[in-house]
Amino acid sequence: MKKKLTKKELQEFKKIVLKKKEEILDEIKHISEDTLKKSQREASGDISGYTYHMADVATDTYDREFSLSLASNERKLIYEFDDALKKIVEGTFGICEDCKCLIAKNRLKAVPQARLCVKCQEKREKK
Ligand SMILES: [Zn+2]
Repeated sequence: MKKKLTKKELQEFKKIVLKKKEEILDEIKHISEDTLKKSQREASGDISGYTYHMADVATDTYDREFSLSLASNERKLIYEFDDALKKIVEGTFGICEDCKCLIAKNRLKAVPQARLCVKCQEKREKK
């Protein structure tokens, strides 16, 4: 039984991971742009002087926290994709971290950042 993916397979997965990473980066960009547009719209609202300033600060803080929490899942995914890319370079991509067997290709295509095979994943989730 082969214990590693071939170079050709690794290249295929590299493309998949890069594409998914790009999609996530795009999503993060959209989230920040939406937040920015929203604060600009509220900042141009009909509030004057000191009150306006305070409202602006409050909105900014709220939006920043809101977009941060929205983007945190995406940021985590970026780390995972970077990790997968590192493994592709090292040639260890697609190998289950627990049982060292090859992770099913279908699983890797759907979840290229997977570190475990389905069996080991299920075992960990049960714990
Ligand atoms: Zn495993």
